[in-house]
Amino acid sequence: MAVEPEVVEPVVVVEPLRPRARCARCRTGPLRRLVLESSAPLCLPCAGLAHLVYLPRGDAALTRRAREASVLWAVVVRHDRRRTRYERQGVLVEEAALARAEAACRADAAARARRRARDAERRAAEDVRFTAELEAEIRRLFPGCPADRAAGIAAHASVRGSGRVGRTAAGRALDEGAVTAAVRASVRHRDTPYDALLADGVARRQARARVAPAIAAVLASWRPGGDAGHPAVDGGAGHPAGHRAGRATGQARAADGRERR
Ligand SMILES: [Zn+2]
Repeated sequence: MAVEPEVVEPVVVVEPLRPRARCARCRTGPLRRLVLESSAPLCLPCAGLAHLVYLPRGDAALTRRAREASVLWAVVVRHDRRRTRYERQGVLVEEAALARAEAACRADAAARARRRARDAERRAAEDVRFTAELEAEIRRLFPGCPADRAAGIAAHASVRGSGRVGRTAAGRALDEGAVTAAVRASVRHRDTPYDALLADGVARRQARARVAPAIAAVLASWRPGGDAGHPAVDGGAGHPAGHRAGRATGQARAADGRERR
């Protein structure tokens, strides 16, 4: 009898709920697993399946690979309790095929782990690059902002999963409004009594309104031409009128010089 390797029609092995039958050929039994041949139960050795190993269901990739690598394989089924249908329990496959399938899945797992590590590395590099770009944009829009402060604002706004400006589409695009919002938020918390007002029970909207002039003053002092040397929170420094008035003084020119660096 010629064996056709391409033909991998599965043999069906039945697991009776209550083993009673004996092998029609060698009389062993009761059989826990049997093959029906012309309605007669055969034990696995008599059915030519003694060399197969059992692989319970549960790992679809492993099962598929083991089946594909097996010249001969069998599906193991059991009647459901109402005997209305067969439930697939697992497969019987060649031992070498199972070993190869397991090796392939292990190799896959390693590849998946490597891919995950690569993705994490790429994201970290993207974060570093974006934070540097955001910092540069903050420095461009607010040349009077101290360098370490700009770096801090950029890092804070970029924290992955924070939902802060640096994680929004506008922020990622370095939209001027978004960048300014990040700077404004930092000034609100660091340079105004905003947090203290909230702690004192002042409503958020009121607290924001109350510190708005102070924020505007700091932002103005940090903008090109602003008097960054005097980021007073009283609303005076950086005011356009104040800036024009101080334009002629040596102090203002020195401040401009600092800002251009
Ligand atoms: Zn037998």
